Amino acid sequence: MANLLWLQGGACSGNTMSFLNAEEPSACDLVTDFGINVLWHPSLGMELGENLQKLLRSLVTGATPLDIFVFEGTVVNAPNGTGEWNRFAGRDWVADLSKVANFVVAIGDCATWGGIPATAPNPSESVGLQFLKRNHGGFLGPNFKSKGGLPVINVPGCPAHPDWITQIVVAVATGRAGDLLLDDFQRPKTFFASFTQTGCTRNMHFAYKISATEFGQRKGCLFYDLGCRGPMTHSPCNRILWNRQSSKTRAGMPCLGCTEPEFPFQDLAPGTLFKTQTVMGVPKDMPSGVDKTAYVKFSAAGKASAPKWAEEDIFVV
Ligand code: SF4
Ligand code: SF4
Repeated sequence: MANLLWLQGGACSGNTMSFLNAEEPSACDLVTDFGINVLWHPSLGMELGENLQKLLRSLVTGATPLDIFVFEGTVVNAPNGTGEWNRFAGRDWVADLSKVANFVVAIGDCATWGGIPATAPNPSESVGLQFLKRNHGGFLGPNFKSKGGLPVINVPGCPAHPDWITQIVVAVATGRAGDLLLDDFQRPKTFFASFTQTGCTRNMHFAYKISATEFGQRKGCLFYDLGCRGPMTHSPCNRILWNRQSSKTRAGMPCLGCTEPEFPFQDLAPGTLFKTQTVMGVPKDMPSGVDKTAYVKFSAAGKASAPKWAEEDIFVV
């Protein structure tokens, strides 16, 4: 039996919505099949007011062991660095609960790197648990490790995919946290070593530089005109499909890069959203690991060798 507590900071509840839609395994499977005892969750917990305070106090004192502390949303430091807006019952619980938890899991961009709320001018003075955008540190500091010996396990996304959430929680609850290899941003490599582009049905159009020019077009790659960040975004969105059916890029919508610390990338200036930014005709952001000279060569060679069928809609059913 593993005790799990889920709290929210500055959050829209999007990751909770995602979690409740999980299928492999589902939120119910966590309880019935994997022995996870959900002590409290903002949308599922029955305790309110004094009863909830009693539970939180018993966790902080160690009277009730806390195996997994899941946090969704930013840590809000406003106003003026006091954190007054972040308190429940006059207290900041996040630091104290993180100290007593065996493992701390940050779900979604807000909890991992600050996400949209931490984007300038950041009026809520939001930070992620252990990062602020690309900067290591965040609320708990760069040296934080939970009692189980791991830093915060970051499961980013806006929201994170339901099954990324439940599969990581199960791994931790069943004693396999030590098997989780984390990347430089503390993301489990099993999900975040590959790219959104890995498994995208438009890869051949990427290779032949055949561009989609409108959302929802069935042929064409969304990189060249519509700003797709699939080649430089670490996510398994085309390996673990959304709703077991599809993904943004399969449906004809550019990847926005929501699992990366800089998200949201767009400065929202008119005409910049869903438009590939270029410098002298070359995309400003290159596919990961590709330099501009190599890009110019491979895209020219791809375009020159494109077969006729690459210009046709081959998805006829
Ligand atoms: S649509 Fe995006 S993810 Fe798919 S091949 Fe093109 S650039 Fe890559
Ligand atoms: S396709 Fe891109 S923007 Fe969409 S969920 Fe995946 S990583 Fe995020």
